[in-house]
Amino acid sequence: MRGDLRVGRLFGIDIYIDWSWLVIFVLIASDLALSLFARLHPQWSLVLDWGLAIAAALLFFASVLLHELAHSVVARARGLPVKRIVLYLLGGVSNIEREPPSAATEFVMALVGPLTSVVLGIIFLFLGRTHLGKLAQAMPTPLAGLAQVDALGTLLLWLGSANILIGIFNMIPAFPLDGGRVLRSLLWAFSNNLRRATLWSTWISHAIAWLFILGGIAMALGASIPFFGAGLFNGLWLAFIGWFLNGAATQTHQQVVIEDVLEGIPVSRLMRTDVATVEPGMTVSDLVHQRIMTSEGNERSFPVVKDGKLIGWVSLEDVKRVSREQWETKTVGDIMTPGEQVVTLNPREDVSEVFQKFMQRDVRQMPVMQDGSMVGVLRRQDLMRYLQLHSELGLRDARQTDGNGRG
Ligand SMILES: [Zn+2]
Repeated sequence: MRGDLRVGRLFGIDIYIDWSWLVIFVLIASDLALSLFARLHPQWSLVLDWGLAIAAALLFFASVLLHELAHSVVARARGLPVKRIVLYLLGGVSNIEREPPSAATEFVMALVGPLTSVVLGIIFLFLGRTHLGKLAQAMPTPLAGLAQVDALGTLLLWLGSANILIGIFNMIPAFPLDGGRVLRSLLWAFSNNLRRATLWSTWISHAIAWLFILGGIAMALGASIPFFGAGLFNGLWLAFIGWFLNGAATQTHQQVVIEDVLEGIPVSRLMRTDVATVEPGMTVSDLVHQRIMTSEGNERSFPVVKDGKLIGWVSLEDVKRVSREQWETKTVGDIMTPGEQVVTLNPREDVSEVFQKFMQRDVRQMPVMQDGSMVGVLRRQDLMRYLQLHSELGLRDARQTDGNGRG
């Protein structure tokens, strides 16, 4: 993802933060400093308020990262490649490149995140209570007696409660939360059918999302809901979460529908065979003026072929990285993505699986290879066109109309 800031690497996994995460960081830190700490401890200095708030927000960030690392480490141990972790507005996303191969793997992979948060929460609370000693025993709940507590105690108890809340929130059985995946894995194990399990869990996700939306609206209008409380702000926040969950459920549902349409169609059916190729010796200037600017098929990228063999891929993005003065001197071979880094397809591969690859890798087209030579190119826009025509014509089942079943 472009625009994400890489902050480091742990266990061989790149860690990125999305700009939206900075928003939540500032929100948490300023809410703690200006509202919670200032209210509970009016005697604290401004420096202590803000110092503690920033420390709390940073440790909270580290906790969310540990939650994501737990998902990623389990995924890798189960043989699923993990490319990166991105921290964003509502938490984190582990970029796991494939769907889990079994219900058991998905179950463990999803559960280990919230479990990590809850365990972290218990550790923070335990440390906090140990630090406070006798004082802690007089407190009915960890957050109830914060006013009498020193800075370290406040930090530990707040982090403990926050992590436990994150663990509980993530176990709500709705996509894309971990609870939604746990639910799907259980339905998957029960039905032995991933697609049906996904459909059932999207229905449940929708139902839960609407409960959040309606509950939030009721709260905003004055009703009081157990655990969630009352008030306009809390109500709007709850409704917002519901709206977000509803969108995620719709997206997951559409994906199932799309995969249904594309299932059983081989790559060879939708690929183009009249592919314009370029030679590695061509200058960047010629590539731009003779190919990209005149391309009839609206091509933005080309396979680079030498002696009939695919040796790389060159795109408009590669050209943009070269300064205008170098257009005459640099060649396609200098700026292309080398062949071994190009993701290729097999003509017999199922298009429903290829669709995932397009989405995850954010590429526009992929070469189709057979016995070491390129036989065609599959473009994302051709896939989209197929899907569009399919829905416009109201076809229910691609396999019926095309007379081509899987197996
Ligand atoms: Zn998680």
